[in-house]
Amino acid sequence: MKIDFANLKIQHNLYKDEIENAILKVARDCNFIMGAQIDELERDLEKFTAAKHAISCSSGTDALLLAMMAIDIQPGDEIITTPFTFFATAETIAFLKAKPVFVDIDEKTYNIDPSKIEEKITSKTKAIIPVSLYGQPADMDEINQIAKKHNLKVIVDGAQSFGATYKGISDSALGDISCTSFFPAKPLGCYGDGGAVFTNDDKLADKIKSLRLHGQSIRYHHQYIGMGGRLDTIQAAVLNVKLKYYEKDLKLRQDVASKYTQALNAKNIETPFVKDDRTSAWAQYSIRVQNRDEVQTKLQNLGIPTAVHYPMPLHVQECFKYLNLKEGDFPISEKVSKEIMSLPMNPYVTDEEIEYIVGNL
Ligand SMILES: *Cc1c(COP(=O)(O)O)cnc(C)c1O
Repeated sequence: MKIDFANLKIQHNLYKDEIENAILKVARDCNFIMGAQIDELERDLEKFTAAKHAISCSSGTDALLLAMMAIDIQPGDEIITTPFTFFATAETIAFLKAKPVFVDIDEKTYNIDPSKIEEKITSKTKAIIPVSLYGQPADMDEINQIAKKHNLKVIVDGAQSFGATYKGISDSALGDISCTSFFPAKPLGCYGDGGAVFTNDDKLADKIKSLRLHGQSIRYHHQYIGMGGRLDTIQAAVLNVKLKYYEKDLKLRQDVASKYTQALNAKNIETPFVKDDRTSAWAQYSIRVQNRDEVQTKLQNLGIPTAVHYPMPLHVQECFKYLNLKEGDFPISEKVSKEIMSLPMNPYVTDEEIEYIVGNL
């Protein structure tokens, strides 16, 4: 058997005619920048998430930048986040010359541990960025409560969790601003780079729209220093097709996850933990193994691809040496990063494949 990790080809083939026609229409209309498909996508994203405003943008990374620029993050400001995430979460903080302040994770959910946040708050702290890792929202009530008490903003890094819910609310409608990514391998992927910023706040929405267009709201009049952060019309056209089927894709991901969990439980292998009051978009299905290198090699030889999200926590990355953090500072993140391993996850993993993967674990 030769298993595909993300199965992007199956997905393209499923919606082939619709997607290819949508791309062709953009090519023929030549409305490459801010075409009507952008507005259509944003209104549909608002409907899907029930967030008041959806603003599409060039990537998940740029969504984070736009969100932080919108709340006026300045050099020297401190932003609390998790060290166990994709690099962009902390990269964008540092890019704005603000300081990432890490807080260790909960060992079961792998999300930021809210009980460790308050001890890290200083007079310079401006925001908290929880990450909905692997697709599961963080403990938002606890985080929002701390933020409210200390007058901080909350920006959700929902790059992996589009479509997930927390107490029935979409991940995109959580916090002051929520960001997502449409990178091809994310649960809702486009055909290149793409992302979106969500907020229920009218003023923040106006500012984000302007920041995305070089800080202008009237052409060539620049109110803010912004960026070229638009989503391409072609990507919006692809997303408009895929969003129609996304509810179904999410359900299929959920089914694949349940089947993995059932099969793994039968073998006494610990399975991912999703809290009762939330759902995961299952960007990844990740388990813990002690002898990861050996397991990965053996599975690879059997045609089973695996991945590691993420092998090195951010506080020990070379570029963050200046933060003066060291191995031992965030023991749970460090331990999990040595053991975590993601199994093939996408809406089209078959029962036969699950049986083969788990059987060989
Ligand atoms: C993918 C990802 C990003 C960045 O998104 P891009 O669209 O690739 O720029 C940010 N944060 C997390 C947690 C991610 O997984």
